[in-house]
This record gives sequence, C-alpha cells and structure tokens, in this order.
Amino acid sequence: MTTPKPTRHLLGISGGKDSAALAIYMRDKVPEMEYFFADTGAELPETLKFVDLMEDYLGKEIVRINAGRDFDFYMKLHNNYLPSAQQRWCTINLKLKPFEDFAGNDEVIQYVGIRADEPERAGYLSSKPTITTRLPFREDGLAKEDIINILNESGLGMPKYYEWRSRSGCYFCFFQRKIEWIGLLEHHPKLFEAAKKYEKFDEKTGKRFTWSERESLDEIEARKDEIKAKFTLTPNKEKKKKTLMQAVLENDDDDEYDGCLICML
Ligand code: SF4
Repeated sequence: MTTPKPTRHLLGISGGKDSAALAIYMRDKVPEMEYFFADTGAELPETLKFVDLMEDYLGKEIVRINAGRDFDFYMKLHNNYLPSAQQRWCTINLKLKPFEDFAGNDEVIQYVGIRADEPERAGYLSSKPTITTRLPFREDGLAKEDIINILNESGLGMPKYYEWRSRSGCYFCFFQRKIEWIGLLEHHPKLFEAAKKYEKFDEKTGKRFTWSERESLDEIEARKDEIKAKFTLTPNKEKKKKTLMQAVLENDDDDEYDGCLICML
C-alpha cells in the first residue's frame, strides 16, 4: 500500500504588503510552508527586489514560477486586445494557471492574505477541488494596522513602490489610477514608454485601446501637473500634501477598486 502524499502548504508572495506580512506571520506556524512568486515578466524592479529581501528574511526559497510564455504571447492569442477588469486573461494565464501547475494534483492548502477589515472579495482564486483556501488574517481578526506592524517589526517595512503606487503587479497594470501612472512616468520613464507601445488606435473603426479608461498614456502624461495637483487634495478638500504612502496608511484609498487577489495582495 502506498502512503498518501502529505498535504502541501502553499503561500504566494505577490510583492504586496499583505502577502508579505502573511508569510512572516505564518513562518513559524507552518514550517513546511512552500513559498512561490508568479513572475509575469512585467513586474516592477521594486517588486523583484522586495521578493529577494523576503527570501532572505524567510530563510527559505521563494520558488519563482511563470507561465513559460510572456504577456506578448497571450496578447497575440487574445487578438491583440489589452486585458481589462472585465477581460482579465493576464491574471488567468500569468498568475492563476502557473499556480495551479505548481500545485499539480497534490492536496494543497493555499494561504491568502485577505484581512479581517476587507470586504468580501471573490478574487481570482483557484476552484481546483484539490486546493483548499485559508485566510489566516481573517480567521485571527487581523486588520491593516496589524499588517503594517508585522512588516515594520520584521524590519522589512513596506515595499518601496508604495511611495508612488498602492499595489504590486505588472508595471502596465490597468488597475492603476492616473496618479500611479504619473508615478510610473516619474520613477520608471522607460517602463512608461514601454506601456505606451501597447496602446492602439484603429483608424478603420476609430476605436482606441488604452490601458486607462477614456485616456491614453500620452494624454495622461500631458495632464501630469493637473493630476498631481488633484491628488494633493485630501478628501475634505483641504490643500494638504499627501504622498501615496500616507494615503495607503491612512486607509482611504486601498480598497477603492477591485484589484486582483493573486497579483496584488
Ligand atoms: S498585475 Fe494587472 S496586468 Fe498584471 S496580471 Fe495582474 S491584473 Fe493583469
């Protein structure tokens, strides 16, 4: 009689604060934890650096997994249509499928960093019957403040891109707000230019394919000062400078849109 394979415990590091804090939180609770990072090939340099730092901190390999094909391959497969919140083929092909391949047919418990203070989110979690999902922060009642404390107490702190962007994920992610596109322009002008190249104008139909709704990156760039000026207004319209990092910590912008669980937690 063959002995059944033991259940695997998997935790995906996205490069975001919540999955990082979860990895720290679970490190001693589940010593057999396997960590992985699904690299889309379009990650921010800050994210890659943060994953390296996490690996040192955890003292265990974070397995880099990928789809074997890049974003451009899947874009061609989708008739050159950019992904969007409604057509999230990028998440499925570059994040979800590589994770399911990594899990294989093993019995798996997947640990996800959804916090107790977040609304219910369907997200893009695997529906494979061999994969069970656990949400330790929610089970233990941990909210954003606790997550920030875990990161600060570990010495890792917040990933560096939080100075100008509120989530991890691809540099061209369509979930970015306009101020974050400006952040990309200012911190990684070459990546901003690279993102522009994906946008298209179909002369026959007059249709535009842009990352950001109703506005091309050229147009966003032209409105740079206006966008920045708007962002420095606090919600009560007082003229007070506020960095994106402060906004994240103040909890007024983080859950305003439905980012993807795999890419950005
Ligand atoms: S980060 Fe954004 S662009 Fe990248 S795979 Fe996730 S949803 Fe798609």
